[in-house]
Amino acid sequence: PPATAYRGRFAPSPTGDLHFGSLLAAFGSWLLAREAEGTWLVRVEDLDPPREVPGAAERQLATLAAFGLHSDEPVVYQSARGERYQAAIERLLAQGLAFECHCSRSALAASGGIHRACLTRNQRVEPAIRLRVPDDGVVAFDDLIHGQQSQDVAHEVGDFVLKRADGYWAYQLAVVVDDAEQGITDVVRGADLLDSTPRQILLQRALGLPSPRYAHLPLVLGRDGRKLSKSDAALPVDPLDPLPALRAAWRWLGQTPDALVGAGNVPALLAQAQAAFVAQAIPARRARLDDTASTEV
Ligand code: GLU
Repeated sequence: PPATAYRGRFAPSPTGDLHFGSLLAAFGSWLLAREAEGTWLVRVEDLDPPREVPGAAERQLATLAAFGLHSDEPVVYQSARGERYQAAIERLLAQGLAFECHCSRSALAASGGIHRACLTRNQRVEPAIRLRVPDDGVVAFDDLIHGQQSQDVAHEVGDFVLKRADGYWAYQLAVVVDDAEQGITDVVRGADLLDSTPRQILLQRALGLPSPRYAHLPLVLGRDGRKLSKSDAALPVDPLDPLPALRAAWRWLGQTPDALVGAGNVPALLAQAQAAFVAQAIPARRARLDDTASTEV
């Protein structure tokens, strides 16, 4: 019998323009979905208004379109989905799997920010909601690119926030609810989220949801060796000139540049990429922006 049809997604947060690291995640998740003859979705993770930039979501979608990367189904916006997140939290609270927490950041500082038990019942009116992480919170999973991974969530992360004290939904909650509701079978994203995956798996288990497969793409680091930021102007993602960035992303994904020779426009390049893509060639290692071998494509 055929396995469940592949459903992948790209889930940008609209905190700025699409940068090269995001393009890599978009292109990589698109290539893996196309290879599997699956569905590829775009979901706008607009959960954190204080960090969002007005118009960024529209610009990100327009940039993706210029790169030929179109969601196979209507784009979903997390800002419109609060009722689903609330319903998930109520289920967890009712089952005693989540709890209200009044601990302040400073109260948690003594334990390195790791929450295991409430220390304070202070006067703050609105509590945060946290998942109760069992003492044996060791979670293992097999990443397509990074292989076997495991994390002791109880001791390395602690009880984590599902709803913030300021009333906003936490990324961990929203991503789990939406990946399940959208029937995502394969989460493909940047390796900066490798250490969020065990939390998401624990939350899936608490909510009785299936876990998707995971593939974390190599992280593109800025010149200072840290996560790529807006100030890294190199490798621009220019919607008016998409081919250089697509070729660069292809290289960063470990693919052979020869495969794209002669592609003079976006549809031709994507068709050649799709035909030549080798998932096993995606490297796990972190790459640096100033790695000239990777930039001169
Ligand atoms: N919205 C997250 C980000 O932009 C990515 C979420 C995900 O792919 O799971 O970092």
